[in-house]
Amino acid sequence: MLFINRKCVTMKNKINNCAWCGRPTMMPKMQVAEMPIMEWMERKIDKAGRVRIWGEKSDWSRVKLDPAFEAELLLYDNVLSTITNKTVCANCMVEDERLYQKYYGRDLDDVEVDVEDDGGSDDIFPDIFK
Ligand SMILES: [Zn+2]
Repeated sequence: MLFINRKCVTMKNKINNCAWCGRPTMMPKMQVAEMPIMEWMERKIDKAGRVRIWGEKSDWSRVKLDPAFEAELLLYDNVLSTITNKTVCANCMVEDERLYQKYYGRDLDDVEVDVEDDGGSDDIFPDIFK
């Protein structure tokens, strides 16, 4: 009985909840952004013209941005550039890397990341992120 209790306590110490999706994970803490890259947001940036509105070469004084979209961009930029020490699960890391390569990677021909299909890979993020 005592052994079982000890085991429970030990396991509890090792398992943290992913800061991005909330799932339990045994990954160690790392320096990561407040939120993962969000594909729907990246699609919006692409649609509006990535070079004009996003990144180092963008100049908002020369483009007409919808105020709501501008607020979204500012918030998105803020959460992506706020790096703190937190636990993120392996699924989220892989997905974030895939999206990073897809939208920010230089080698656009090689965007695929090998992911072991556990049958639920489409459900990495809760609905709020979609
Ligand atoms: Zn996660």
